[in-house]
This record gives sequence, structure tokens and C-alpha cells, in this order.
Amino acid sequence: MLLKNRLQSKLPHVGTTIFTKMSALAEEHKALNLAQGFPEFDCSPDLQQLVDKYVRSGKNQYAPMPGALTLREAISRKTFDASGREYHPVTEITVTSGATEALFVAISTVVHPGDEVIVFEPAYDSYVPAIELSGGVPVFVTLDPQYKAIDWEVVRSCITEKTRAIIVNTPHNPTGKVWISSDLQSLASLAEAHDLFVISDEVYEYIVFDGRGHISVSSIPSLAGRSFVCGSFGKTFHTTGWKLGYCLAPAELTAEFRKIHQFLVFSVVTPLQFAVAEFLEDPEHYLSLSAFYERKRDLFNDAIKDIGFVLKPSEGSFFQNVSYAHLSDENDLALAERLTREVGVAAIPVSAFYGRETDFKTLRFCFAKHDDTLLRAAGLLNSARW
Ligand code: PMP
Ligand code: GLN
Repeated sequence: MLLKNRLQSKLPHVGTTIFTKMSALAEEHKALNLAQGFPEFDCSPDLQQLVDKYVRSGKNQYAPMPGALTLREAISRKTFDASGREYHPVTEITVTSGATEALFVAISTVVHPGDEVIVFEPAYDSYVPAIELSGGVPVFVTLDPQYKAIDWEVVRSCITEKTRAIIVNTPHNPTGKVWISSDLQSLASLAEAHDLFVISDEVYEYIVFDGRGHISVSSIPSLAGRSFVCGSFGKTFHTTGWKLGYCLAPAELTAEFRKIHQFLVFSVVTPLQFAVAEFLEDPEHYLSLSAFYERKRDLFNDAIKDIGFVLKPSEGSFFQNVSYAHLSDENDLALAERLTREVGVAAIPVSAFYGRETDFKTLRFCFAKHDDTLLRAAGLLNSARW
């Protein structure tokens, strides 16, 4: 019991993530899981065969600490094709254990005790604990609940002498908002004026809808020079369980990033790196993703359109947010739990993405599911009691 007195939590306000909780509740009640963001379908059989090939041909020992060079070269090529920025595979690209590790290491690399970090909320849940573990202080800029444009004057007003970095995420989880060129320009001028690091979470880079394009911070030279761009193959190739991601950053930043990466994981699972490198040779494998998910978004939205939800714009990612304010007074967590237990459909309460108590009466549904699952979920929601 003595030890108990010794243990002082470094994250006293943190519990188990909402994704873990809702997936467990969905499992317990055999509900359709539109909560945690992962594809229901498998990755390409060709990709599976490549993994098999590399496992059988001896690619089973430690990969180089920054990642297999062939994968870093492939990442460099695809980034150049998309944004025109040439990241040097040897000095500017690091393969990580998912985007989660890339984000954690990037934050740890730049944040010192007392530093402030601008975070847009709702925010993906890993950013704030990572800031706090480095002794940093998150400063929240709340996005408009109707998911309208970012007010850059508000962002500016949150910057102080202590602001070290800003974390951005486009396409955005949970809202599905996709930044436009003027957002990137505003970010660039603020970052330059206040000499900020930018940590850019671009894991949904290939999932953008209705003719939109993803604009990476890497496409703007003044931003690329001060940014850590974090990506993930989990979303792109339906392989969230592989935890394969990467970080792009100028050589000087990458050198510091790798000092932490090497002692956190050292290197990342080897055969998967070779398999993904070869799969990346055909850009169609990722360029077809937007159309694939746009059709699913439309199918799901059409099937839930008569329930009385207000559908928020889903411009990218694989999430659809709905407001149910006209239907129920329940708070979003209570409603998400009740829907899972009683209706058989699990969703994520959007309040879980805020650093303070909120209830905008909004749920997030993940539509990375088989058409049949989406239609069955919609059928259950249509017959639910509100
Ligand atoms: N950032 C965002 C916005 C995410 O939605 C996720 C996970 N779904 C991650 C980062 C983490 O990615 P990974 O699974 O590659 O660690
Ligand atoms: N990114 C996924 C989501 O938003 C979950 C990832 C996780 O469970 N850590 O649902």
C-alpha cells in the first residue's frame, strides 16, 4: 500500500479513451459499431500477399531506426506528387508506429515546460495528454459548433509570448471539416509572425469529398519549413491495426524528432514497411479512396435523412456528424450509450473531443463500414424512440 502513496498520476484527468469505451459497449450489446473510426472491410488481397512475400523472404528483423529506406523513398515520391515539396528520404522522413507516435514525438520534440500550444477543439484525443506530459499548456480555440469557417482573429488573440506550437488537423476528426487555401495562408502568416512550430495531423489526406482537394502544410514553403507533417497508412489502406505512420519535417527538426523516436520504439514493424512501399507504386491504390468513401457517406446520409437529424457537412474523413437537438434533450454521452444498448447502433458523443464539459447534442458516426451495415444501422435509427 505504501506504493500507492508514491504513485502520482501524470495524467490525473485522463481515463480510458471514448473509442475503447464505445467499442466495448458495442461488443457487449452486439450493436453495430459506427463509433470507433476503423474500416469494417479488409485491406487489399494484393497488399496481404506483399506482406506474405516479405515475411517469407526474411524481412523480419529490426528495420533501420528511421524506417526502411524503400518506404521513405516511396513516401517522398507521393508527397512530391501531391504537394510539390521534396522531402529527403534520408534526413527528412521517419516511419513511425502510427500517426499517434508521430504526433506524440513531434509534440515532445518542441514542447518544453510552460510552453503554450494552440489546439482547435473539438480535437483528436491524443494531442492534449501529449502536450501535458511535456509540461505544456493546451490553449483551446473552439471551432464553430455549426462547423463554419475558422475565425483566424480568434486564433491570433490566443497567441502569447509563451506560444510554442499550433496543432492543426485537416481533414478534421471529428467534424469532417477540410481546410481551404485561405486557412493555410492565415496559418502561414500567424506561424511566421509568431515563430511557431506547426504540427499537422493529415491522416485523412486521401479522403476528401465533392471535388475538394487536401491542402497539406507541406505545399506552402514557409509552413513546411517549420512543420511536422504526420500521416498514417491505417486510414489509407484499411490497415488501422498495423499502426504504420510517418512524420515529414525539415532535417534539423527530424534530427531532434529521431532522438525521441529511437528511444520510444526504435523502429517499426519491418515486413509491413516493405509491403506498403511496394503497394505505393500504384497511386490508384490511394487516389481512389475519396470516391469510395464519398459514395458511402451519401448512402448513409440518404438512409438517415428522414429521422430529423441535422446533418453537419462532412467534407472529408470517414465521419458524419449529426445534431439531434430537435429530437432529444439527452446529453450526447447518455444518448450514445442508450442507442448502443437499446437501438443497437454505437456512435461517438462529440463532447468527448473537448477539454471541458460541453453538450452540443452532436453524435459522430463512422461510415467506413459495409453498405449493408450502414443500411442496417440506418434502419435501426429510423425505428428508434427519440
Ligand atoms: N489523428 C487522427 C485525426 C485520427 O483520427 C487518428 C486515428 N484514427 C490518428 C491520428 C491516429 O492514427 P494511427 O492509428 O495511425 O496512430
Ligand atoms: N481515430 C479513431 C477514431 O477517431 C480511433 C483511434 C483509437 O481508437 N485510438 O475513432
